[in-house]
Amino acid sequence: MKADKIETLRTRYPWYFDPSVSTLPDGWFHAVDHFLSQLKDIGDLADCVIVRFERMPYGLQAFVAPCQFNWTGESALALVRAQEALLLASQSLCEVCGLPGVETLPGATEGAQAGFFCEEHLSSAAVQVEQEKARWADLAFLFRDGPPALDRSMPEDIRKIAFDYLGKIAAKVREWDQAGYIHIKLAFDEGLLVMRPIYIPGYELIVGMEITEFCSTAEELADTRPYIQDWTDRARTIFGTLIDEGCVIRLTSRQFYILQQTLKIAASMEVGFVLKDCVDWNPGYEVDYDCDTTPHLEKELDGLMSALVVRLGFTETDRPILPEAPGGRP
Ligand SMILES: [Zn+2]
Repeated sequence: MKADKIETLRTRYPWYFDPSVSTLPDGWFHAVDHFLSQLKDIGDLADCVIVRFERMPYGLQAFVAPCQFNWTGESALALVRAQEALLLASQSLCEVCGLPGVETLPGATEGAQAGFFCEEHLSSAAVQVEQEKARWADLAFLFRDGPPALDRSMPEDIRKIAFDYLGKIAAKVREWDQAGYIHIKLAFDEGLLVMRPIYIPGYELIVGMEITEFCSTAEELADTRPYIQDWTDRARTIFGTLIDEGCVIRLTSRQFYILQQTLKIAASMEVGFVLKDCVDWNPGYEVDYDCDTTPHLEKELDGLMSALVVRLGFTETDRPILPEAPGGRP
């Protein structure tokens, strides 16, 4: 669901809002909006109910868990009716435009969710499903139990990252004749891409290392949660002494990915590089580093770091103010 729609729901129903709405298609906005308004009407349950939306193979299901037992028979029945109405609405409204009169489109793999599209949006969706089917068939050898059902709620850009990196992994596995020795576990869980390698004894260690790297890169790229979090420990694990003792790194996940690329180059320059700080103060920023080398190489390093500042978006004038992560990276 687009950000403005999510924000509308958050503002309208602060007590009932659940981040799971972000994984739902735009076309179902009104159905969700209506469901939440019904929930609000059912009674003053404001602080004693948890709502979660989940896209099932057959449509949209809302799970509602009361935190206290003050539901009457009447309110419980009203809830069940609202849940049913939501499911029916999702089955009869186009998930792209929200117009009624839809046809069901089966997913690319067995067990994948069906799609619900109006006549106008059905053909392009069907083409996409066919393309995905072909790609899945090509990648099937990477999965122990055949290609997994790919969640339709997975946003387009994350889907692209998943396919890109599965393609890279498949090429590497083929190149080294490792089919059957390396499998991939793939899931999309609460808005996060999970891509993990499973190694079967007898696999080539060096290929395994590369595949592990591919997987974690894909996960990091797909982690678009736009908040700033502390990456200092993570960076220290990856880059060791390149990260100064008092160094602080606070960035979004995308920024951290960019920083990693630069740090790899800095490490290869062998100039005694040390990162002292890299913080998105949001607004404002701080990038501090040190090196111990010839003036010529120092100039080169300064250039690299200036480019980093630009790539991190620090020089953009209309940067959005981003929230801090509640508890850092889980
Ligand atoms: Zn439509």
